[in-house]
Amino acid sequence: MAYVFSYIARTLEAGRKRHDGAVTSEAKGLVLVVEDERPIADLVRLYLSRDGFGVHVEHDGLAGLAAARRMRPVACIVDIALPGLEGTEIVKRMRAEGDWTPVILLTARDDEVDRILGLELGADDYVTKPFSPRELVTRVRALLRRAAGPPDHDKVQTLGPVRLDQARREVTVDGVPVALTTTEFDLLRHLLARPGRVFTRDELLAAVWGYAPAAGTRTVDVHVAQVRAKLGAPLIRTVRGVGYTADA
Ligand code: CA
Repeated sequence: MAYVFSYIARTLEAGRKRHDGAVTSEAKGLVLVVEDERPIADLVRLYLSRDGFGVHVEHDGLAGLAAARRMRPVACIVDIALPGLEGTEIVKRMRAEGDWTPVILLTARDDEVDRILGLELGADDYVTKPFSPRELVTRVRALLRRAAGPPDHDKVQTLGPVRLDQARREVTVDGVPVALTTTEFDLLRHLLARPGRVFTRDELLAAVWGYAPAAGTRTVDVHVAQVRAKLGAPLIRTVRGVGYTADA
């Protein structure tokens, strides 16, 4: 969970640090590209660099996961079919570790799209090959805007009548304070960080509770019900068969 909220700090950090083989950028941060087809990787690197991003490329799944852990990129572009470790497995492991760095998956197969969009994986977006590099850059920019939220998102988050002050750990609804437990607060904070993004129960467990994704998902349902009851506002929506999302 902390990863989501340290996003801006990481953007700055990624811009400052020099990594092996990486061109870094003060302005936009480092994007990790994991793609074994070198011509595609080179093209993506070229377009992202031109747009002001730093780019680090890995051609193998295991090296890609290691780079994600080591470099803390602002976003990852990950091919699904990779030697070493599948792209889907990279995303699953990142999410299980509480790493919510935005990920765009690259897929060569249309029949994989259902699986990706099912959000079981925790990917943020996908692009089907062959794709336009320009389109991919546009997606990365859009993803980072969504992930960042408003400029002060790490201090105060608002959605509809709900206002959450992270520093004070205070929540109000239409200006009236609402008392939430630590877990309830963190759950709400996680949902508010990315309004409209649907989180699966497993994702919420991993991010808010730090449980392994196989832990009882009923815990999430119970806490969501409590937060809903306390807020008294229809803010957290159930997405049947998937999980929960916060929207106003
Ligand atoms: Ca591939």
